[in-house]
Amino acid sequence: MIPAVLPTYARAPLSFVKGEGSWLIEADGTRYLDLGAGIAVNALGHAHPKLVEVLKAQAETLWHTSNLYNIPNQEKLAEALVAATFADTVFFTNSGAEAMECSIKMARKYFSHAGTPERNRIIAFNDAFHGRTLGTIAAAGGEKLLKGFGPVLDGFKHVPFGDLAACEAAIDGETAAILIEPVQGEGGIVPADDGFLKGLRALCDEHGLLLIFDEIQCGMGRTGRLFAHEWSGVTPDIMAIAKGIGGGFPLGACLATERAAAGMVVGTHGSTYGGNPLACAVGLAVLETIAEPGFLAEVNRKASLLRQKLEGLVAAHPEVFVEVRGLGLMIGLVCKVANVDVVKAAYGEHLLTVPGGQNVIRLLPALTISDEEIAEGISRLDRAASEIELAGQA
Ligand SMILES: *Cc1c(COP(=O)(O)O)cnc(C)c1O
Repeated sequence: MIPAVLPTYARAPLSFVKGEGSWLIEADGTRYLDLGAGIAVNALGHAHPKLVEVLKAQAETLWHTSNLYNIPNQEKLAEALVAATFADTVFFTNSGAEAMECSIKMARKYFSHAGTPERNRIIAFNDAFHGRTLGTIAAAGGEKLLKGFGPVLDGFKHVPFGDLAACEAAIDGETAAILIEPVQGEGGIVPADDGFLKGLRALCDEHGLLLIFDEIQCGMGRTGRLFAHEWSGVTPDIMAIAKGIGGGFPLGACLATERAAAGMVVGTHGSTYGGNPLACAVGLAVLETIAEPGFLAEVNRKASLLRQKLEGLVAAHPEVFVEVRGLGLMIGLVCKVANVDVVKAAYGEHLLTVPGGQNVIRLLPALTISDEEIAEGISRLDRAASEIELAGQA
């Protein structure tokens, strides 16, 4: 009999009833160290006091009105995002996929608005992930995402990640935009080289294309800068964000320059819930916290500490791990054994990690993780790896 919850996930047999910072707690009190943070969502950890406070205060005041009216919290959050980024304007959504949908629609609209509607195709990259809607599975293009859901939405071409020449060769008179995750997340924590991102910007400038970044996973302080693309100095024309911005409250956004957003006039796009008073109260508190002086410096310090300890772990367990890669607190541990076996062994040590593409386990801890919790996480990973080695010898 089909479960009451549609069985599209192979769930671990764990249920949490409470969260505190980097810890998740089961009903019987068992505590798990959470290095997955809800897949990079709980950027400030679980039950962050400031987020709880603003959410409670907003809940007692006003939950939802509608985008038929001005929403003061939404304006504040949009202004803060505009002040902190390349963007001039922001559209709010409830999820990453919707932020991507807005980005794709905006790119198409830009060219139709400019009188060149034939320029409606987007170049994207192999092993990308942009969400689960019909548009975003077509944008990512992977067989696993698309299988059985045809007809596939037209308008996307795919080239290898990092291959500037292939990208250039794919540009033709119908190309509208290039879409990339500055650090691929689901694909296995693969950062794009600075030179590659610079090359994409140059191609876009040369051919009059829009550059779209998907920073849904790598944005909001995750890599040690507010947005990952800041490391390269390259700015996009359009950017989708979500996950960390809500700190656990469903919130996403599409950020754009005034030029790129030119076609998105009254009536062209909308969302019932997107940017409602509750979501934006929380989003503003998340952004303010990450923007506090010294916050990102701490993320970078902790990222180097974790990275250094992980290098030691990999060296100590060459039968289990191959290498560590990533940027800031967005880390991939490439496994020699099946990554899901490492994730399982870590559960046994009451440690949460997330599997990813290319046989990695992802470490995406709360940006607020402490040095002690980093050390604890390494001890638990070390024990999990030792168990895998012992099982392999048996
Ligand atoms: C999670 C993710 C998405 C999709 O976000 P949803 O909120 O699940 O729709 C899109 N792009 C990237 C890079 C992501 O990590």
